[in-house]
Amino acid sequence: MLPGFVDTHVHYPQTRIIGRATGPLLRWLEQSVFPEEARFARRPYASAVADEMIDRMLAAGTTCAAIFSSSNPAATEVLLGRLAERGLRGAVGLTLMDVRSPKALSLSRDAAMTACRKLIRRWHQHDDGRLEVAITPRFALSCSRAMLRAAGRLAAEHGLLVQTHIAETEEELAATRAAHRDASDYLDVYDRAGLLGERTVLAHAIHLSPREWDRVRDAGARIAHCPDSNFFLGSGRMPLSEAHDRGILVGLGSDVAAGRSFSMRRAMASAYDNALCLGRSVSLPTLFRMATLDGAGALGLGDRVGSLEAGKDADFVLMRLSEQAKTVEDALAQLVFDNDDLGVEACYVRGQRLS
Ligand SMILES: [Zn+2]
Repeated sequence: MLPGFVDTHVHYPQTRIIGRATGPLLRWLEQSVFPEEARFARRPYASAVADEMIDRMLAAGTTCAAIFSSSNPAATEVLLGRLAERGLRGAVGLTLMDVRSPKALSLSRDAAMTACRKLIRRWHQHDDGRLEVAITPRFALSCSRAMLRAAGRLAAEHGLLVQTHIAETEEELAATRAAHRDASDYLDVYDRAGLLGERTVLAHAIHLSPREWDRVRDAGARIAHCPDSNFFLGSGRMPLSEAHDRGILVGLGSDVAAGRSFSMRRAMASAYDNALCLGRSVSLPTLFRMATLDGAGALGLGDRVGSLEAGKDADFVLMRLSEQAKTVEDALAQLVFDNDDLGVEACYVRGQRLS
């Protein structure tokens, strides 16, 4: 029996495009991601994929996730409805994109804020807080300054989780500097818009300066580390020690579909590889904590889920380990690295069996 895994960064409308090897990032977005995300204007498609994603998460033992929806409000509504019905825990955000984006995916600031308010009224804190609505600018490149500011105001007004991407590739970094010349660096784009605080989860954080790392710490923001995605798109190596040495909370993200699996076990194994590539090692207990308790903490849920403790909600998974695992260390090694035979037997949220 393990705490349910927490995926701090995943894209619902990319469920069907795992493995499209058209990276690096900006080319992959153009060629593989944006055409697929445009399909979510069709409600039956959105509904079918929502159930596929939930099935895959449960098969991987994930009981809680911070999810980027598409930029389509109706598809986001569909996803929240399926999560409400199926019993998973999580935060979902309409992906905000109003500039430098394909027409089919762009939504004006006013239309997006109206849609977000509607989603908040309908779904935020649904089922005693099991579901939340998150403010979700895709990244600085796809948002105007006005959109980012409006998003920051709305997040502050309702105390919402903010999730976005930062400093994933050097090409993106250069384009962001050119697009947001008033900001001193990438992080400052979000900071100036009021999007940086204790409820902010920043995905990737590969190419940050020392000033930006210090500011992430001082703001109390959190990191979603997505190493499998970083390998697949060749984005670079996230320096985990920069975050951990500063006491910054880091959860793991699958980042499907740049990540090649919904499994947080895969994310843990890739995080181990990633650190070793940088000449550092991460212990198995630390990897496990990032995939559970630290992930929950990054989403502001550390007092409710992420570990098996009296007083918390009973979100847990049952997994079958092989009989060779005699010690906790053996069991963790099997969980993280020996991926062939382990099976998730069942997932529970608040003691209710979901699969
Ligand atoms: Zn992502």
